[in-house]
Amino acid sequence: MAGIPLNKNIGIIGGGITGVICAIFLAKEGNKVTIFERKELLGETSSRTTKLLHGGIRYLENLQLSEVKNGLNDRYWWLENFPDNTKKIEIMIPFRSFISLKFFKYLFGIKIYEFLSFTKKLGKGRIVINSNKFQSINQTKISNYLSFFDGAMDDKLLGSKLKEQLRDLNVTIHEYCEVKNFNNRGQINDLTFDQSILAAGPWTNILMKNNSIDSDKEIDFIKGSHLVINKKITNGFMFEGICKTRYIFALPYSDKTLLGTTEKRVNTPEDPYIENDEKDYLIKSYNSIFINSIKSTDIDSSFSGVRPLIKSAKNIHKSSRDFYVQQDDKLISIFGGKWTTAPSIARKVVTIINNE
Ligand SMILES: Cc1cc2nc3c(=O)[nH]c(=O)nc-3n(C[C@H](O)[C@H](O)[C@H](O)COP(=O)(O)OP(=O)(O)OC[C@H]3O[C@@H](n4cnc5c(N)ncnc54)[C@H](O)[C@@H]3O)c2cc1C
Repeated sequence: MAGIPLNKNIGIIGGGITGVICAIFLAKEGNKVTIFERKELLGETSSRTTKLLHGGIRYLENLQLSEVKNGLNDRYWWLENFPDNTKKIEIMIPFRSFISLKFFKYLFGIKIYEFLSFTKKLGKGRIVINSNKFQSINQTKISNYLSFFDGAMDDKLLGSKLKEQLRDLNVTIHEYCEVKNFNNRGQINDLTFDQSILAAGPWTNILMKNNSIDSDKEIDFIKGSHLVINKKITNGFMFEGICKTRYIFALPYSDKTLLGTTEKRVNTPEDPYIENDEKDYLIKSYNSIFINSIKSTDIDSSFSGVRPLIKSAKNIHKSSRDFYVQQDDKLISIFGGKWTTAPSIARKVVTIINNE
């Protein structure tokens, strides 16, 4: 019967943000949940993000309206439920000239972004013209800005909170426990569950193929890398990279700057690392707008992750961040998504399980 907690025994393969939030939502519904994680909870892709909770303003360019709206709703969910580990952040977009098509295109985009947030708006963006307010920016080149608001998170502290919730909800956690075998009858390794969930992020396809489960969805392995720069900034910025086809974020990161990301198609999700051309690209892009230029000795650290994107476009900059949930008898497999949209994925999974 729909909507009644059924106290099912549920096994989840993968302890990234998708698996963790599904576990929390399902345990709150009264189910007994077990997570199997090959390494540490939240240790893979979910620890390699830009730390933004967002609808994805740049996806408006590809008219991915419902995907953006979904993300904006989830963004609000995170800020409302975890106020100690999340905050709103104003992000400035620099422009050389405000009399340009690009400026008006972005102004329009920001208005749509705010409109789609509706009552869950985090703040109203600004238009800043001929200003030398942002001292870190090269004023001889840039003095005009648009701004918009998004969410930012401290993923380490937020992750600890989520692990605490898993413990409070009596979710059984098996870390360093790789799942080799599973099927659509609820089997995971040598255990049998009423329902199993495959939430292995970029590894989803590989695990399905190894276990002879078909899907018409495929994961596109798109690596993204970040640099942590030994420079403090007080504002968030989103600016065009030197390739001119994508945007880069420079965000406050305690007393440093988080700079990223790149987009590079790779062959495997295993052990991603930043390559020299990615480092060069990020450094040159930063130096194209900031006044105190950086070099490789200013890099404090770097990290890379492979996005679990559903293969949707040849041009990787246009790939959708949307998610897809596939059901095969007692197995639910999750493709795609973002950290931000994990609650939407979990709601969908709960609905499927409650309606079984
Ligand atoms: C560069 C970059 C920047 C990003 N920035 C943002 C951002 O700012 N905001 C945002 O919302 N999203 C962002 N994302 C997207 C976000 O990181 C991912 O969508 C999200 O973390 C995916 O979570 P997941 O749980 O699906 O995958 P993962 O975090 O990868 O979790 C899957 C887990 O499955 C485990 N696993 C794999 N195989 C097995 C097995 N055989 N047995 C057991 N366990 C297994 C893995 O060890 C892993 O821990 C970014 C992604 C990247 C790469």
